[in-house]
Amino acid sequence: MISIGEAQRKVLESIPVLGRQRLHILDALGRVLAQDVIAMRDVPAGDNSAMDGYCCRHEDLAGASPHQPVTLKVIGESPAGSPFQGTVGPGEAVRIMTGGLLPRGATTVIMVEHTRLEGEQVVCLKDPGPALHIRLRGEDVRENETVLTSGTIVRPPEVGMLATLGHAYVHVYQRPTVAILSTGDELVDLDEPFTDGKVVCSNSYSLAAQVLDCGAAPISLGIATDDAEDQRARLADGMRADVILTSGGVSVGKYDLVKDTLAQFAMQVKFWKVAMKPGKPLVFGTIANKPVFGLPGNPTSAMISFEQFVRPALLKMMGHRNLFRPLVEATLADPVRTGPDRLHLVRCKLFEEDGVMMVSPSGSQSSGALRSMILADGLMILPPEDAPFSAGNRVKVQLLHTNSPLSPYSPYE
Ligand code: AMP
Ligand code: MG
Repeated sequence: MISIGEAQRKVLESIPVLGRQRLHILDALGRVLAQDVIAMRDVPAGDNSAMDGYCCRHEDLAGASPHQPVTLKVIGESPAGSPFQGTVGPGEAVRIMTGGLLPRGATTVIMVEHTRLEGEQVVCLKDPGPALHIRLRGEDVRENETVLTSGTIVRPPEVGMLATLGHAYVHVYQRPTVAILSTGDELVDLDEPFTDGKVVCSNSYSLAAQVLDCGAAPISLGIATDDAEDQRARLADGMRADVILTSGGVSVGKYDLVKDTLAQFAMQVKFWKVAMKPGKPLVFGTIANKPVFGLPGNPTSAMISFEQFVRPALLKMMGHRNLFRPLVEATLADPVRTGPDRLHLVRCKLFEEDGVMMVSPSGSQSSGALRSMILADGLMILPPEDAPFSAGNRVKVQLLHTNSPLSPYSPYE
């Protein structure tokens, strides 16, 4: 049995980064840039006003105040989009709106709130200081500057920047297709009669949801019985996908045939059985360089194994640099019994007590129990230990279901 850290390394070293594709910037949301983006122009393209008001030569307003107002002659206006063509001379002002280009000669902007318009004249009640309320040409982005680098995740601000720079399309990494096969004689699908002894096949759906959640594309191969021929025929349909996931039938039971079926496709097995709980009976290998994960059938084992191995693998294929969920440290509120042989991933809830981040199990840790998975903020990572972990111990928690940034560090390194 290999350690979870070694297993994760073996998985990731077998995973290729996929090729590139060109996408419209909105379709690229959530994807990873596969190109650098270089600014072809300054942003902003010219000096402009950050306020609605009047622009003029600063020396004209030096020392202006409500007691010593300065009156200037309004010679025109510079709304956003239609620049004033003339020059602002001594004693003159141009009405300017936010985003309006600063005319020649003007060196400051006074906010409209600090002025009073009297016919053709504006009375200025304040000295705004030199170069105030002016957004300088190129202050955000300079022409020829590399603004975004390959490997950047396209989020809403990146979409905005790409649009600002005039890019309608960008190159991003492709996303993998992931074929999912559930196996088990006892399984019925959602549209099949639920009779005695049967189990509803939830894994096809929870795994597909996890695949979607990573930004990849699931393909359902349905349910195979514990029959080598049925499994082989359905898996054959999956061979065009980039990744294959199976669930169930990889343990040591009489009807656990998935490994034998995969052997018929000449799978090169990299490991079978990982020292973790839940999720021990996991097989990983490649079929002609295509990664294949034989996940255990228990619903929570399958989901937690997906989290540790499949998610980082899919993220790597899609060009992500940070592959792992973030970790936090927390103080155990209750003792937790583990064991000497396997690393335990304990579904847990985080809460604060007197300013200290505390953690306790979120319910039954049975490999089948999904409720505690729903209630879990994360997974405690408890290395193999003879003695139980006592209340007060500091432990690491891998955060699930979070939008916080991903981490460059594997918890197992
Ligand atoms: P196995 O790994 O095939 O021995 O299955 C372990 C447990 O997980 C059994 O109780 C199965 O009924 C259950 N199980 C297997 N596959 C699924 C599935 N697709 N959906 C829900 N439960 C499953
Ligand atoms: Mg089974």
